[in-house]
Amino acid sequence: MDTNNAHMTVSIDSLGCKLNQAEAESLTYDFVRAGCRVVLRGMPADICVLNSCTVTHVADRKARQWLRRMRRLNPESLMVITGCYAERSAQEISGMDGNVLVIGNSGKLELVETLIDRGLLKVQPAPVLAVGRNCNRTRSFIRIQEGCANWCAYCVVPAVRKNPYSREPGEVVAEIRQRYADGFKEVVLTGTEIGTYSSGGCNLEGLIARILNETGIERIRLTSLQPHEITPGLLEMWSDGRLCPHFHLSLQSGSDSVLRRMGRNYTTARYSQTLEEIYRRIPDVAITTDVIVGFPGETADEFGQTLDLCRQAGFARIHVFPYSARPLTAAAGMSGQVDAKIKKEREAAMLSLAREQAQAYLAEFEGRTMPVLWAACSGGVWSGLTHNYIRVYARGNPELGNRITPVCITGLWRDGVWGELP
Ligand code: SF4
Repeated sequence: MDTNNAHMTVSIDSLGCKLNQAEAESLTYDFVRAGCRVVLRGMPADICVLNSCTVTHVADRKARQWLRRMRRLNPESLMVITGCYAERSAQEISGMDGNVLVIGNSGKLELVETLIDRGLLKVQPAPVLAVGRNCNRTRSFIRIQEGCANWCAYCVVPAVRKNPYSREPGEVVAEIRQRYADGFKEVVLTGTEIGTYSSGGCNLEGLIARILNETGIERIRLTSLQPHEITPGLLEMWSDGRLCPHFHLSLQSGSDSVLRRMGRNYTTARYSQTLEEIYRRIPDVAITTDVIVGFPGETADEFGQTLDLCRQAGFARIHVFPYSARPLTAAAGMSGQVDAKIKKEREAAMLSLAREQAQAYLAEFEGRTMPVLWAACSGGVWSGLTHNYIRVYARGNPELGNRITPVCITGLWRDGVWGELP
């Protein structure tokens, strides 16, 4: 590795949640400011960084696969693994590779300084590049909060993202203004539990008000919220069309007894009441959710209650997770672990309902004209997202990238819909 090169190359990958993506994006900015050239995934690089996840055993496995694959591609390079898996399993990772730097969550955002301090990176004049355009991305993930103290019985996150912390609102506003100046049209407010955002007396509602008043960003999207965090005052703010009509409201289970065992803070009645309130106030809204199937002790009847609630809810998208026991969690030691075959059956039933609901939601928009933020083009076909999270495909001119233009939706296509540009 040549630390004297004016343009050391860096590749940055991220697994897991949108908070990890937001952090990877911050690291991209830090490396660019230090004079590095950030290359696309899979290209050789002097420094290869992974922001890892440990929410499931599959996420752990993907981090190990990443290390082996990147090492084959880059025999001499420095590998850096940070994030939740690094926080939990530093020794395991170090044992796999002699030239890997393992940095836990607490040191993650100071990674570039650490590399400079250790002589592994030399600051060079930064190339004058707008990172947004350089990365070929249209949405920017903004970290507003991190950490959780809720300790849901299945979740390892509180063990690896300790001491919840919210960023100061002025800092968030300044970052969004910068992203907008860099060409981004949409920001996604991201965190472990953004509904708990609180900084110097400013809550999530206050933060959104400041973003609306003090930035010109065209679209603001929120990541996951919990039912009790969705207040009438918060929903009132959606009268401003810059807030995307899209809520991710993790259900996890539609059975009150399972929710209690999971340690969730809501009942199914409260959840359904929040859904009704959102549907009543926000036209065209997309509500997406997560469901865990096969939580310890989940009976056929409890699973049936989850199916029933989902059937009534009309979700735009359901992410289905078969329960997987994680170290350091209460549920791992619970009796009544559900047989793998039953979990598979429940996963299949829930996925089938998820497909049905997604298609029904998409079909509602056939014939409608909606604005789309165009993101990528492949084989002459553009794809982008509506404000309510529908993926739209259309044939269009090569100048569509990162523009918001109206499109008439003509029918279902792949994972979204097909549209005709006027
Ligand atoms: S609220 Fe529950 S699921 Fe969400 S991060 Fe905290 S412990 Fe995990």
